[in-house]
Amino acid sequence: MAPLKGNLHAHTHLSDGLLSPQEVIARYKELGYDFLAITDHDDWITESYWQTIPRGDPDLLVFVGVEIDHQRLGQHVGKILGERETLYVLNHPARYRLSLDETLRRIKLLTADGLSIHAVEVTDTGLYKAEYDVDAIGLPKVATDDSHRELQVGRAWIEVDAGRDRDAILRAIKAGDFRLGFAT
Ligand SMILES: [Zn+2]
Repeated sequence: MAPLKGNLHAHTHLSDGLLSPQEVIARYKELGYDFLAITDHDDWITESYWQTIPRGDPDLLVFVGVEIDHQRLGQHVGKILGERETLYVLNHPARYRLSLDETLRRIKLLTADGLSIHAVEVTDTGLYKAEYDVDAIGLPKVATDDSHRELQVGRAWIEVDAGRDRDAILRAIKAGDFRLGFAT
């Protein structure tokens, strides 16, 4: 079974991205991605957001998600919805220059707050941040684009060992059954 290539973090003009959902989906499709999560900022979107995002087609599965602004911590958290599964990602700790201790503390606090963190980004807008790709953070590490514009599309991704099914993909990510990929 060939691994599935995907990006778990992308913005559209429904928040602060420049492209429409259709344009973002088309760009990733051109690059041969198998899945994509649209994750606009939760404090920008309207109620129609969830219906507005196209669900993709057999070639490119689209996940609907949001980037939650946890205001007390000043921490963004990715929430990606499958059919039954939900994936929570601690987004770009590198952007906040978090120490290892603070990263672990936030994971604990968010989990206690009902956002049970399943994975941690080791990228900031598609650029690898090796200091977070360490065993001391005992969760799977994901690479994402956090794309807001065309030039940020296709720089960092994961290749997941799963069948072409939203819940199977999210379960495989939670289990760490994937590898990171980066454009050179
Ligand atoms: Zn983002």
